[in-house]
Amino acid sequence: MERQFTKEIESLRLGDGETFHGEGILAVTKALLQSGVSYVGGYQGAPVSHLLDVMVQAKDYLDELGVHVEACTSEASAAAMLGASINYPARGAVTWKSIVGTNVAADALSYLASAGVMGGTLIVLGEDYGEGGVVAQERSHAFALKSLMWLLDPRPNLSTIATMVERGFELSEASNTPVMMELRIRACHVRGSFKSKNNVAPAVSTLHKLDGPPKEFIYDRLAHPPATFRQEKLKSDVRLPAARRFIAEHKLNEVFPGTENIGIVVQGGLYNGLMRALRTLGLADAFGASRLPILALNVVYPLVPEEIIGFSKNKAAVLVLEEGQPEFIEQEIATFLRRADVPGKLHGKDFMHMAGEYNLEAMVRGLSRFVELHAPHLDTSSGAAWMQSVQRTKEKASATLAALPVRPPTFCVGCPERPVFSAMKLVANDIGRPHVSMDVGCHAFASFEPFSQGNTLLGYGMSLAAAAGVNPMSSKRAVAVMGDGGFWHNGLLSGVASNLMNKGDGVLVIMKNGYASATGTQELLSSPPEDARMIAVGESAAGADRTIENTLSGLGVKWLRTVNNYDVAAMAKTYREAMTTPEKGLKVIVAEGECQLERQRRLKPQVAKNLADGKRTVRVKYGVDEDTCTGDHSCIRLSGCPTLTVKDNPDPLRRDPVATVIDGCVGCGLCGENAHAAVLCPSFYRAEVIQNPSAWDKLKAKL
Ligand code: SF4
Ligand code: SF4
Repeated sequence: MERQFTKEIESLRLGDGETFHGEGILAVTKALLQSGVSYVGGYQGAPVSHLLDVMVQAKDYLDELGVHVEACTSEASAAAMLGASINYPARGAVTWKSIVGTNVAADALSYLASAGVMGGTLIVLGEDYGEGGVVAQERSHAFALKSLMWLLDPRPNLSTIATMVERGFELSEASNTPVMMELRIRACHVRGSFKSKNNVAPAVSTLHKLDGPPKEFIYDRLAHPPATFRQEKLKSDVRLPAARRFIAEHKLNEVFPGTENIGIVVQGGLYNGLMRALRTLGLADAFGASRLPILALNVVYPLVPEEIIGFSKNKAAVLVLEEGQPEFIEQEIATFLRRADVPGKLHGKDFMHMAGEYNLEAMVRGLSRFVELHAPHLDTSSGAAWMQSVQRTKEKASATLAALPVRPPTFCVGCPERPVFSAMKLVANDIGRPHVSMDVGCHAFASFEPFSQGNTLLGYGMSLAAAAGVNPMSSKRAVAVMGDGGFWHNGLLSGVASNLMNKGDGVLVIMKNGYASATGTQELLSSPPEDARMIAVGESAAGADRTIENTLSGLGVKWLRTVNNYDVAAMAKTYREAMTTPEKGLKVIVAEGECQLERQRRLKPQVAKNLADGKRTVRVKYGVDEDTCTGDHSCIRLSGCPTLTVKDNPDPLRRDPVATVIDGCVGCGLCGENAHAAVLCPSFYRAEVIQNPSAWDKLKAKL
């Protein structure tokens, strides 16, 4: 990974009383070290990628502390790693993107929750829910409930986040239960500071190793029948009461007093949004003093009945703010209050929407209704005025935007995956559109215009498995597209092995760009070796490793081709052959081209250095001859590159805008390839921009 976290790594070394500045997710990273964590693992994914990325790059420092770090191949392997804390007093933390990662990890998590832990375990979840989310919209809360694992949801400020990490380990140990901590996108990226503490070198570590397995063999630590039946009882009879005691004694949930006799119970993670909404309504000041009392749940599971009853019993009404569906927290609160005969009214989803994010607008609207009904003496006119102004802005925006074309997200400029979809589109023009099973990764951008390819998306590495039911029933071979990240995550076993075992057919295109690009270009088993990347400046380094091809051959794939992505004609020929050959069995095309983002990150500093050293440097750029361009834009429909766009036709006698290449072009060559493979007009040209030209270059130019 070419991005360097040098500054962030330095801040991991801060000691007692020094001030840590940075993002929420990096506060978690620091707090893990302050908690004496022995091992850290995880699988990258927004919004928690930085936790692991920083840890991986901080290896030298972590070696000094004796902390083991592992970049796991999936969330399942990360969850299983926590098994180290079942028998040993070693604290462990893992991280991934949820809900998808938690789904993948679910098997190991069930067993871990059943066996229980001796050393504290913390699972840091990037809760990808709401308007910025990119995965199926579900909540991690359901996993906490079904497995009886505890779920923290800290208020999004760095001190609370760091404290909850430390308390999370203690809670885990006090109740022998794994603890999860959900951090929404905004909590991960919120910036702030907190007073740091010295890091704690773990008692069990790579420096202080275990003598061996536990002296006494304890069968009960295996999640295996009959022990599982006892463990199921332990969860509710022993671990749950222990957790509730710890939460209450250490005041993990916070009460903020107010002046009114109506109150709000809020998930800790929503607290900042709530304060902004109260301020908009004129019910709180800028420093967080609210007229309505608030119970902020930094622990959303388990709830402590005494805390809920204590907060609610003298109030005329309580509003529960719980984002997403179903209303787990509200239902549990209703049960507590009903059992205790607490007389006040309970509101929640009756005033707030069931599904989707609680943004500022939703909160202001819901709170207005609540206050209007139960505290009509409060003046909330500033909130009403704000809502009206939002409405006016929306109306204005919809009138303006209606006239604008949609602008879907797309691949980076020069991305190696774009030419593959150009080739697939060209072949589909001849043989008809096949069913295309997509996967998680950058290539999913091909489901948008101008490619519009992709009929299903079933999870990371699942595309080939998702085509298994379609293929036997289709007259045309179904196509599965998968990245090299997805291949190693799940695709090899769930897709390829299953296809081979069932003597399946179909076509699999593996985008071998060298890294898990969509999550920040983390390294894979098949990433090009460091030295190959350095040698290959200006060239694709993805081909420096043959692990994927060797694995497929070893597994028994007979029809296997590796093709350079940017050679559109060759790619189209190979793809056509895969789609039409009478040969039975799985056909795999390994589409090889290094992630352009990663390539440019490596290339740019080297080019800058060459220029500063006065060395001759050549940059390739493509362009369009505006006199030749007919303005039919078939090149754009085959490419979608953001730097291939349109401009006004310079010919006053022609009205259609002409194609043009703007400055960001990285000279990937796709424009030329498409023009050739699709027999487009001859308007594209390839130019070489020479900086620090040699005497020979100058003479040639003069001539
Ligand atoms: S990150 Fe890499 S693979 Fe992903 S769209 Fe950008 S260039 Fe393509
Ligand atoms: S050559 Fe074409 S496709 Fe490649 S970066 Fe330049 S404009 Fe984009």
